[in-house]
Amino acid sequence: MDAGFDRWLRRNIKPHHTDGYANLCVSLKSLGRPPGDASASEMEAMAAMADRYGRGELRVTYTQNVVIPHVRRADLGALYADLRAAGLAGGEDGLISDMIACPGLDYCNLANARSLPLADRIFRRFGDPERRLEIGRLRLNISGCINACGHHHAADIGILGVDKKGVEHFQITLGGRAGEDGAIGRIIGPSFAKEDVPAAIETIVDTYLAGRRTGEPFGDYPLRVGITPFKEAVYGAAS
Ligand code: SF4
Repeated sequence: MDAGFDRWLRRNIKPHHTDGYANLCVSLKSLGRPPGDASASEMEAMAAMADRYGRGELRVTYTQNVVIPHVRRADLGALYADLRAAGLAGGEDGLISDMIACPGLDYCNLANARSLPLADRIFRRFGDPERRLEIGRLRLNISGCINACGHHHAADIGILGVDKKGVEHFQITLGGRAGEDGAIGRIIGPSFAKEDVPAAIETIVDTYLAGRRTGEPFGDYPLRVGITPFKEAVYGAAS
């Protein structure tokens, strides 16, 4: 198998309680694809793979991906080949590109702002796969309004659509997390016009990359240094 297969194994395979089996995450994040979207033919292809390599079961995850549980490890090579043929062999699981985004103003009449085009702009900003791997685990979630269907408040980087005098803007939060040590992300400052958000996210990521300790994931960095270094980087030292 090629290097792509090794990378796919590292990113997409989840542990299983039975030796010889694995749970497989099929990433529904790729450039140009709204986060979590799958066509009817892609769903049929995944269903056929679940029948062939699993137990006829697909699970849709909180992170807007699909899991095929109970896959025999001996079949992973064949499964990877089938996923590649279906255009579903991406390996974005857990990276900045593995965004959660609610439907936003394109589909939801409660929204303040468009989530999906913003997700696309951020993906393009981080278009280099090697750079995404260098950044490592980073949860970025986008909600189009305070109803928070994208769980922006529980993300390392949260983005919330707000209405500023009739114009869509986005507020950024840092340090949210889910789980036992759950925390609500903290607002870093005034909201941004949509065209300014990708640059602000890049500044935040660069601040982390410049200051992180070896092996320190993005999610732990604001816990250690607070959000002031991010605010200064994004808004200037006088913020
Ligand atoms: S967060 Fe708001 S805009 Fe997004 S789906 Fe929920 S209600 Fe709609």
